[in-house]
Amino acid sequence: MYDYDLLVVGSANADLVIGVERRPAAGETVLGSDLAVHPGGKGANQAVAAARLGARTALLARVGDDAHGRLLLDSQRAAGVDTVGVLVGGAPTGVALITVDPSGDNSIVVSPGANGRLAAQDVRAAASLFQASKVVSVQLEIPLETVVEVVRSLADGSRFVLNPSPPRPLPAEVLAACDPLIVNEHEAKVILGDSAVGETPEDWARILLAKGPRSVVVTLGAEGALVASAQGVTRIASVRVDAVDTTGAGDAFTAALAWKLGTGSALAEAAAYAARVGAVAVTRQGAQVSFPTAAEVEAL
Ligand code: ADP
Repeated sequence: MYDYDLLVVGSANADLVIGVERRPAAGETVLGSDLAVHPGGKGANQAVAAARLGARTALLARVGDDAHGRLLLDSQRAAGVDTVGVLVGGAPTGVALITVDPSGDNSIVVSPGANGRLAAQDVRAAASLFQASKVVSVQLEIPLETVVEVVRSLADGSRFVLNPSPPRPLPAEVLAACDPLIVNEHEAKVILGDSAVGETPEDWARILLAKGPRSVVVTLGAEGALVASAQGVTRIASVRVDAVDTTGAGDAFTAALAWKLGTGSALAEAAAYAARVGAVAVTRQGAQVSFPTAAEVEAL
């Protein structure tokens, strides 16, 4: 028996958002709206998304010993995430400085802070969390050595899910562990690099699969997703909704998929559920606050 359906290993950031009429050019100062501070970071987002759906979820992450760190711990606990694996100190909490103009275009500066200090040693020290977790989900807002150590720390029979965001080339050892590797179009192209010879998402999925993952999921925004494994490539229809804000949709999708796989769903079935979760999330403003409960997904 596993204590956790899902262990998320990843980033936790404070998103500091200011609305501006026009984003500043070099050397320019502009006045903006009141500051809004939101809990964010892909790891923290995925953990909240899974817990809100009802998954027994733990987060392994690092925050600073500061007000932003406390904001992140509070939002995780409020969603029902077990924060026993959230380490405190070593650097300030990661921050994303975001300016948004009236058309919705933004400029973002990220300071990884404590996320960059989540070390391989921290993964080894959390061995009991890995033994207790059925599925482990990771993104790339933490050091790559830490991700490699996660792969080496997986319990026998547990499953590794990776969303390589922000994308970079991956070692074969990490690719081979992915079941699935979850990418959007941009991430697929960066990971494939020069070998991106295919035209269609089906082509990318097949070429990615040949690089070693046991399965691949390509997310396609309003077009849904597709899943690829040794059994072939399957399209997952999108759910038609009026999208107002796609922030966090990928995180909600990945968390839902990882949880459903852990409960025994087949890949296509889990992806269809995840597409519904992503669809609800895009109908609402914000990231973590937009993530639905299981009842809200049913009601869609
Ligand atoms: P990312 O944020 O990583 O780029 P996507 O934008 O592809 O990820 O969104 C993840 C998933 O959320 C999609 O595969 C889809 O299932 C769902 N989704 C995203 N945008 C929409 C939309 N406009 N309408 C319906 N579903 C959406």
